[in-house]
Amino acid sequence: MPVAHTLEGPLSVDVLGRQDPELAEILLGELERQSTTLQLIAAENFTSPAVLAALGSPLANKYAEGYPGARHHGGCEIVDVAERIAVERAKALFGADHANVQSHSGSSAVLAAYAALLRPGDTVLAMGLPHGGHLTHGSPANFSGRWFDFVGYGVDPESGLIDHEQVRTLARTHRPKAIVCGSISYPRHIDYAAFREVADEVGAYLIADAAHPIGLVAGGAAPSPVPYADVVCATTHKVLRGPRGGMLLCGSELAERVDRAVFPFTQGGAQMHTIAAKAVAFGEAATPAFTAYAHQVVANARVLAQGLAAEGLAVTTGGTDTHLLTVDPAPLGVDGRTARGRLAAAGMVLDTCALPHPDVRGLRLGTSALTTQGMGEAETARIAVLFATALRDESAGRGVREEVRDLTGRFPPYPAH
Ligand SMILES: *Cc1c(COP(=O)(O)O)cnc(C)c1O
Repeated sequence: MPVAHTLEGPLSVDVLGRQDPELAEILLGELERQSTTLQLIAAENFTSPAVLAALGSPLANKYAEGYPGARHHGGCEIVDVAERIAVERAKALFGADHANVQSHSGSSAVLAAYAALLRPGDTVLAMGLPHGGHLTHGSPANFSGRWFDFVGYGVDPESGLIDHEQVRTLARTHRPKAIVCGSISYPRHIDYAAFREVADEVGAYLIADAAHPIGLVAGGAAPSPVPYADVVCATTHKVLRGPRGGMLLCGSELAERVDRAVFPFTQGGAQMHTIAAKAVAFGEAATPAFTAYAHQVVANARVLAQGLAAEGLAVTTGGTDTHLLTVDPAPLGVDGRTARGRLAAAGMVLDTCALPHPDVRGLRLGTSALTTQGMGEAETARIAVLFATALRDESAGRGVREEVRDLTGRFPPYPAH
């Protein structure tokens, strides 16, 4: 398609600097923060400049309620192509019959999955929040806990592994309409076949909330929920490295129900700039470079887990299969909250999280972002040492901060070109 316009000049960030220096400074300040500290938040990553370009494009102006070829607004012929490409790429990437790429976030995707399959008051079996369930898995502060009757399964307090016997017992007792598998902090692969078996036994739908591992699935570094789950919900911005957003995958028999659950049931107009950015990210995720990336993310997480264990931290389940791990810093004499503060002062950004032992706040770390920066096992091993150094001794924070600055300087997330 011949286009007369270019995105050079008038649409560059310089425009913001000239018009609104106050906000331009915030954008640059955040870029500086991201570039000079270590992003260990397991849910975060660095999108590519191509993804950012799609997000900052005039597609942001377009209203597009409905689906390609059946919109409530005029002028959708070009953005329709973007959505069709995003859907086709998602289907091919994950081997799914159907993909919906309109969900505004991971939570919106979960809401749509419930809307497609459940009625208010239905019983749902999901991982309990103290064990690693997401807010949308039955928190009383969330629509899920208010509108559905959630029963929580957990992990074994000693091994930290999902207790599949408990899942089966609870399913037999409560006869849920749906079972949800997926977590914000589970470091091991999810055994989707085991969940499918229990769901079949009690006649429940299986919803896989693969918000975290879906990027590893794309890169062939984690098992896929697609052959097992009735509906897969996911984010596009975690390991998958796309724009902030959600998506749903399902078989063709549920396609119409899922689409209607997203629009018009729970959302209005689709965000076409984000959908175009999702298409770009799916394109990137289909490359051999992304497959190598996904495997490197896991290799780095394993090195980080080994390094932290060697430094004396208690690593949940003894390690990881994925991009994330959770640790208890108590053996080093600090609780989770104090630890997060000390690490922040040393330039390492991460979250506290629930641990299998009730009432203990631990730390959750991930390697998605640092791997995107090009760091490998040698750097990750060094990060484990720096991490423990900053935790043990508050006065060591300043020295660690300098080394973090040096490390991130050698692996910039957005190299100047
Ligand atoms: C991140 C996450 C979500 C929610 O994603 P948002 O985009 O923050 O709404 C849902 N479920 C799980 C398991 C997650 O990890």
